[in-house]
Amino acid sequence: MKKTKIICTLGPAAGTAQKIVELSKAGMNAARINMSHADMKTMMGYIKEVEKANESLLFPIPVILDTKGTELRIEELKSPIDVVAGENFELRFGKVRRTINKGAEMNTNIFKALKQGMKIFIDDGNIEMFVEKHHEEWALCKVVTSGTIKSKKSLNIPGLQMDLSGITKKEMEDVEFAIKHGVRIFTLSFIRHAAEVEKVRKIADRLKTYVFLIAKIEDAVGAKNLDEILEASDGIMVARGDLGAEVPLEDVPLLQRDIINRCREKGKPVIVATQMMESMIESPVPTRAEVSDVATAVYQKTDMIMLSAETSVGKYPVRCVEAMTKICNRMEREEKFVMPLRGEEKRSIREEITLAASMLARNLGAKAIIVFTSTGRLARLTSKYRPTTPVFAFTRYDQVHHFNQLSRGVYSYRADLSDHSRENINNAIETLKSDGFVKNEDLVVVISDVFKGHKESQLIEVKKVR
Ligand code: PEP
Repeated sequence: MKKTKIICTLGPAAGTAQKIVELSKAGMNAARINMSHADMKTMMGYIKEVEKANESLLFPIPVILDTKGTELRIEELKSPIDVVAGENFELRFGKVRRTINKGAEMNTNIFKALKQGMKIFIDDGNIEMFVEKHHEEWALCKVVTSGTIKSKKSLNIPGLQMDLSGITKKEMEDVEFAIKHGVRIFTLSFIRHAAEVEKVRKIADRLKTYVFLIAKIEDAVGAKNLDEILEASDGIMVARGDLGAEVPLEDVPLLQRDIINRCREKGKPVIVATQMMESMIESPVPTRAEVSDVATAVYQKTDMIMLSAETSVGKYPVRCVEAMTKICNRMEREEKFVMPLRGEEKRSIREEITLAASMLARNLGAKAIIVFTSTGRLARLTSKYRPTTPVFAFTRYDQVHHFNQLSRGVYSYRADLSDHSRENINNAIETLKSDGFVKNEDLVVVISDVFKGHKESQLIEVKKVR
């Protein structure tokens, strides 16, 4: 089974239950709704479509809501604007100025914080310009890299000193609305401090819900504060689009590797995102460089890889997921050993147990690791050591059932677990047998929590399927 999980962004090209089922068969594991391009009504529509798709799928597709964040954006344009290197371009906030220059309106007044010479990147760095002069509500810029500016494209201005919190009133409202409509997994845009994640956690606490919060690292401040952000979050996204415009582009691969390793150390899922199969928005085959990029992320042992416009508006969403799946399977076939973390000095008892179970499963050639988990933590700690054996997590809770799906190599079953671990183990093996994952005479390794009075301990068991 494919271990690296694929997130597909929903959109006009991938938004119906039928398409989601098709994508899932091709290797999709989670659905992202990007609030930068969707309103509440669209979001609700997509949630319903995913729910409908899930009725016919063996493993659920969880919905991930990606908050808008305070992204700097170009407002709606009447038509795209071509800009050529060397010409002037005016950015402004509010009313149109009488000017002979080409220009566009922005969603935020950043002009007081600009400095002469500052670089401005539009559309994930495809277009570059710099500030020649600026006023309180406009700036005259010189184009450095030609291109076409389209409506709603994002802007990055490295070094801009403005308090642009990733979590504003709009994000708080969106999160609250989404929680009330059943969403439990969020990717939070432009997180720079742990406090922003904690702010969202408080909404969930107030609504007495349990949510999974993934912080998107999109700029140098977020990258610098990774430790505190990781502590406050349940996972991290390497949001390479904005990151690549906010920090030197050549730093992005190193940040990606570092963030993946630090998430693994904590046993928290990590996503590598953006431009993974970009050319497949238009083309039926990926470039060789894209194949290598996806392969590298799999080799670095990320939990998830993400598709954005490739699936939301691309011409070949299913082919794109199929191509990604092939790369994942090919790379994962090379993984012959369980991967304890280099330099991990001290492991908790639970970590020693999950590492030992992973080693045991590999050495015995077991066909499955079965984990019983009520918070999802035991499943994540098993995934942490990147076992070569597929992990099947059994939980009684709906939201944990969806959280489990985010970890590398973990596939989740929702089951009405009883208080008798023997009965649960036998039922789990029967389920895997009837779904074709194990057959008679196969070995399985089981990790379960055992309670004696108020004391909890973990048990590893090797069972032969009969
Ligand atoms: C990114 O910047 O890489 C990203 C995933 O964020 P968004 O698509 O929301 O801009």
